Amino acid sequence: ATIPQVFAETVARFGPREAAVFPQAGKRYSYYDLDREVDSFASGLLALGLKPGDRVGIWSPNRPEWLITQFATARVGLVLVTINPAYRLSELEYALNKVGCKALVTAARFKSSDYLKMIGELAPELATSRPGALASERLPHLRTVIRMGRERSPGMLNFDDVGRIGGPAQQLRLDAITRQLDPDDPINIQFTSGTTGAPKGATLTHYNIVNNAWFTVRTMGFTEADRLCIPVPLYHCFGMVLGTLGCVTTGSSMVFPGEAFEPATTLDAVSAERCTALYGVPTMFVAMLDHPEIASFDLACLRTGVMAGAPCPIEVMRKVVGTMHMPEVTIGYGMTETSPISFQSSTTDGLEERVSTVGRIHPHVEVKIVDADGRTVDVGVQGELCTRGYSVMRGYWNDDDKTRESIDPSGWMHTGDLATLDTQGYCRIVGRVKDMIIRGGENIYPREIEEFLYRHPKVAEVQVFGIPDPKYGEEVCAWIVLHHGETMTDEELKAYCQGQIAHYKVPRHVRFREALPMTVTGKAQKFVMRDAMVEELG
Ligand code: ATP
Ligand code: MG
Repeated sequence: ATIPQVFAETVARFGPREAAVFPQAGKRYSYYDLDREVDSFASGLLALGLKPGDRVGIWSPNRPEWLITQFATARVGLVLVTINPAYRLSELEYALNKVGCKALVTAARFKSSDYLKMIGELAPELATSRPGALASERLPHLRTVIRMGRERSPGMLNFDDVGRIGGPAQQLRLDAITRQLDPDDPINIQFTSGTTGAPKGATLTHYNIVNNAWFTVRTMGFTEADRLCIPVPLYHCFGMVLGTLGCVTTGSSMVFPGEAFEPATTLDAVSAERCTALYGVPTMFVAMLDHPEIASFDLACLRTGVMAGAPCPIEVMRKVVGTMHMPEVTIGYGMTETSPISFQSSTTDGLEERVSTVGRIHPHVEVKIVDADGRTVDVGVQGELCTRGYSVMRGYWNDDDKTRESIDPSGWMHTGDLATLDTQGYCRIVGRVKDMIIRGGENIYPREIEEFLYRHPKVAEVQVFGIPDPKYGEEVCAWIVLHHGETMTDEELKAYCQGQIAHYKVPRHVRFREALPMTVTGKAQKFVMRDAMVEELG
């Protein structure tokens, strides 16, 4: 099915039920409300002359307009390009030009960044151009900028105004266009997180993401009665596929605690809105568990959720099950390029499997683990994880070379992650191939050291990575964030490791930090830490 077909079916079945809540903005939408907003905005997009297949960018934190734009663009077959809210001028320019966006839907500002000012700097022609008829030197494809918020800006359209310009003629065209959409049409270009370097734009179809969203929520046993708290950014597949689209496949309700993740507002939204499920990357769960007032929030309404996106420390998972009352929480493993989930634990898996593995392969996805020569390895042997099936992206947008590097001629996606499978099919992620440290000929997996250090009661967050070393080839470094009010020294940490892990795994360079460099999706950027250490140590 296409996204608009699934959406229409849910509106027909669950129209009066709550679709989305934005407590901070004070907004609530039933599926009927959302449908009306989506149709108006979609009609407006048609009236602006946009056609199926055109690319439309969205640059915004989590806001109601995001949700409306997502389903409105899908309604008319526009390819939504999700742009990282943390981007700055040159990154925005790159993303818009790389995929040839004709229109951009943008927030006015986010935190301390003034988006409108940045767009104005890129396209000074806006100030004097007619809205919808931009001719910009640096953004040659861009015609239309649609801004959110009440105010109006020269050369731009206002979001609410666009919802008013489409008339009955547009409405008829809308239905005709929706009927002609093919599930195999591209509908999204999603950028990867940029954890290991420059983000890559993955081209995904309706079929890719509708099915992945549905299998993921079905694994948690979602029904229309479930209420999902979504603190993860919508610009990323976790939010917009597993979150919004997942809820739409089952008629469940979405709760967006705020424009960006904060532990207290998230905990508050869960308890005030009686959420039954919660999504997050491990760092978000760590921050919530570490919140001094966590005990004051009533979380007994929670049942399930997904923790995914990065290695989920076993200790953290145990606390999520207990302290956060999520007896049926699941771990998910996936990547933007595979729509995204390919492994997920099930709510009925034993606690041990649920906390120490990423579960078993999703339905209709094939898996194999290969060695450096591409040969499938035996059960229990570590190698590169490869997946194949309906969920694999079309490719990286306009980048055949990169696509060929990751999808082989038989359709296998090479994930770049090291993993093992056991006889029952449970998968353990060892880490990224790129992050493996080779010190004096020994292979060291940062994950193993991180798991060990997480068990130290003072440690809140830890990342282990390698830096070049003249003597050993590479040397082990650790960056650590301590729990509130704790202090620790290098010696203390090294003494803790002594006799517990092999001497060559003991971090040689330890740094205590207030926070770690993170992507907007909440993943630690080891390359940034590595560069900083190399610089510091000269
Ligand atoms: P980039 O490709 O731009 O460097 P990224 O790989 O982090 O960034 P995403 O597509 O958001 O971009 O993330 C996919 C990656 O996240 C996977 O390849 C894997 O390394 C990691 N990952 C996801 N889920 C898990 C998990 N449950 N356990 C361990 N790692 C995970
Ligand atoms: Mg990646």
